[in-house]
Amino acid sequence: MKTKAILKGKKGFTLTELMIVVMILGILVLIAVPIYNNATAKAEKSACQANRRTIESAIAQYAAVEGVNMADVVVDFTTGVINVKEGEEGTEKGTETNLVGNYLNELPTCPSGGAYSYKNGKVSCDAPDHGSDTDHD
Ligand SMILES: [Zn+2]
Repeated sequence: MKTKAILKGKKGFTLTELMIVVMILGILVLIAVPIYNNATAKAEKSACQANRRTIESAIAQYAAVEGVNMADVVVDFTTGVINVKEGEEGTEKGTETNLVGNYLNELPTCPSGGAYSYKNGKVSCDAPDHGSDTDHD
């Protein structure tokens, strides 16, 4: 009977109970945030990889049309203009073509804000951990 009386007078939660709940929620957030961030970074990395693969196949098409080696192609990523390099001084020769409209609908950009560059048949990204690997995992 005494316990019942105590319970009857008890309303809501004690401060300790509330603090424990807040602590548990805090721990869950601490666990969830890095997992979410990691998933986002992973998604951006694979989107970037797919973009670079798309650009590489567009460059391969251009190289096939021009009849040149993919390694002899230069790409200006600020303008999207593609050309063939010739000579040691970097003098360009070939049909200056815009990638967009001819080989791509739009020039893909890195979802993490990285800048693309092209060398020896590979498009690379300067965003951390993105690199130049466009092969499947
Ligand atoms: Zn990237």
